[in-house]
Amino acid sequence: MSKRTDITLSIGSNEIAKRETISNVSSYYGCNTFSEAIMKKMVSEKTFNAFKQWQEQGVIISEKQADEIADAMKEWAMSKGATSYTHWFQPMTGLTAEKHDGFISINGKEQVLEKFSGSKLIQGEPDASSFPSGGIRATFEARGYTAWDPSSAAFISEVELGRTLCIPSIFISYTGEALDKKLPLLRSDAAVNKAAVNMLKVLGHDAAQVFSTCGPEQEYFLIDEMYYRLRTDLQLAGRTLVGAASPKGQQLEDQYFGSIKERILNFMNEVAEESYKLGIPVTTRHNEVAPHQYEFAPIFERSNLAADHNQLLMDLMKKVALRHGLVCLLHEKPFAGINGSGKHLNWSLADDKGNNLLNPGATPEANLQFLTVLVSVIHAVHAHADLLRGSVATAGNEHRLGANEAPPAIVSVFLGEQLTDLLNQIEKGSLKKGKKLDTIDLGVGLLPKFIKDTSDRNRTSPFAFTGQKFEFRALGSSLNISTSIAVVNTIVADSMNHVAELIRTELKKQGNFETAVLSVLAKVIKETRSILFEGNNYSQEWLEEATRRGLANEPSTPEALRAFVNPKNIDLFERHGVFSKVEVVARYHIWIELYEKVLGIEAKTLSDMVSTQVLPPAYGFQSEIANSLDMLMDYAEDKTIGLPDGAVADRKELFVDVTADILYVRRNLKEMGALLAKADSLELAEKCRVYFSELKPLMAHIRKHVDDLETKMPDEVWPLPKYKEMLFIC
Ligand code: ADP
Ligand code: MG
Repeated sequence: MSKRTDITLSIGSNEIAKRETISNVSSYYGCNTFSEAIMKKMVSEKTFNAFKQWQEQGVIISEKQADEIADAMKEWAMSKGATSYTHWFQPMTGLTAEKHDGFISINGKEQVLEKFSGSKLIQGEPDASSFPSGGIRATFEARGYTAWDPSSAAFISEVELGRTLCIPSIFISYTGEALDKKLPLLRSDAAVNKAAVNMLKVLGHDAAQVFSTCGPEQEYFLIDEMYYRLRTDLQLAGRTLVGAASPKGQQLEDQYFGSIKERILNFMNEVAEESYKLGIPVTTRHNEVAPHQYEFAPIFERSNLAADHNQLLMDLMKKVALRHGLVCLLHEKPFAGINGSGKHLNWSLADDKGNNLLNPGATPEANLQFLTVLVSVIHAVHAHADLLRGSVATAGNEHRLGANEAPPAIVSVFLGEQLTDLLNQIEKGSLKKGKKLDTIDLGVGLLPKFIKDTSDRNRTSPFAFTGQKFEFRALGSSLNISTSIAVVNTIVADSMNHVAELIRTELKKQGNFETAVLSVLAKVIKETRSILFEGNNYSQEWLEEATRRGLANEPSTPEALRAFVNPKNIDLFERHGVFSKVEVVARYHIWIELYEKVLGIEAKTLSDMVSTQVLPPAYGFQSEIANSLDMLMDYAEDKTIGLPDGAVADRKELFVDVTADILYVRRNLKEMGALLAKADSLELAEKCRVYFSELKPLMAHIRKHVDDLETKMPDEVWPLPKYKEMLFIC
């Protein structure tokens, strides 16, 4: 039996099909969260009101009140079977972190008692020295604090043999700097709240509060666990570093929205069920473009919750996949040559009454407000495209951006025909008074009139208005969305302040409110026009056009990240209280260091795999061909056999090809080793430059020859699962 057929797939090992169908989602949704309704039932009215005040106005609760809530939380968690608790936080690794402590404390000799205090609920003190801090916290000052974020409900995490109470928290250093992803997001929401409330006031509307809303669409791959176990690259680098293309890829366009395989649907159902228990509103699910690629999207929520929930969802997807003998790949480009995975960040602003500020209104006044907010967002993207690009810059996403499947590294805004037309009219001052946003009359008497979706579709735009929200499409699938949200919130806050100020000034000059606002909008549209693009973002013409317009097109991650240390941007973040200079510079260092580490791991993994797994059977194959060549040459001399002309030459050619592949692989591996050694003595930013411009091409070169060997060598001696297997068998 060949080695390849020994691979036992994990298909059929899951038990899910045997489980009973669970009842209505509404009957258990959020059952594993310590919701406000539960808290309200379990604590005094005074304490609950104090908690709400903390949430809404930032007035922290008293120690006694914290004790009361902690006690209620502990009782509730224990009733769910929890024995431990943890502050659950999002350090700069981009992942989540947890350090569990038991509820028990010693109560006299040989007896324990479950206890949980307000001080433990509100603040934890994990050792911070082993988390990335970008130099904020010296190792000798290991202290870091986690602090409960009251805007995100505590929840129970479940495994088969136990439950843990998780308390969503921020993570700060001894000196108070944010060491995490959550705190800057919360601060940016405060910044956009202030700016938007102020802008609405100028426009004659009173809102008590404005906050950002988000709905991240999560793409991912699933492959059989057995294949994953046989691929060192997937295990260590999250992506395949070698692998020849499958004859069938995504050419037939038969995966997108296709009928979902039973095994995958079982996985999706279990993820949904686990999500609902945690109050994560996942709703949409479908097959994506590439083979074995899928998507989940939730109903949008306040940004902070959306960010927490997206982290939890990614975690759940990985855990649940294993229960089905599958592995969930969240890498941006696990397989070369077919689409990678992104995460579309749908973003908008809402006021405390639930009004969406990017919703075109029914009245001319409401439309004026909508247009002012819209133009402020355009202004923000125009002024800070570099930060948006920087916020999605990671080693994994570098494989996607600009790869004709994902938005290019050039940031632009898509509005759709109708809005573009409207803005053109405003800019020219030719807007017909009272013009309402259109409705479409379908011309069929019996059908209702549909409100025209204010934007048509453009799947290639990195920042598209998609009717009531913007969709920032350049995020990578594994990214923690917090930084991108913080950037969008901050730049929009800044532009809202700017536009509001212009309107205020204009109003002093001329009395007519509508004319004043429209003339400001006209001016801003004129200034920011270069960021608007309605065409195909994947096309060569756009690359050329964008260059003419002076728009940045930065393919390199470390270079794109420099936006964060640009003095104008540091000033912006400081002005809005989102990042201090120290915090933002630290992030830049963490991120370029991460890039360097990821590429270093990839290079070493490639070297290890190729030297110990790929080359040994290749030598065997090479000597087999040599032997057969010898044999053919002997036979060629015997004219009675009558070998066809060219038989020897043909075998020679194969021998030369395989020998050349082996030689190039080995030569490039040596060169890569030397490059890595040389790069070690370079300073970090320079090392990143070398990795981008020299190491990556070298790795691609090695891969090319390895993939070439894969297509020539016998299936049964090829040591790695192939694309055609990983992507099509499941
Ligand atoms: P698509 O635009 O990709 O066709 P949808 O219109 O269903 O898909 O929306 C995609 C995501 O956008 C969903 O997660 C949805 O909840 C989210 N979304 C819709 N409205 C808003 C909003 N006002 N703010 C933030 N996200 C939103
Ligand atoms: Mg979408």
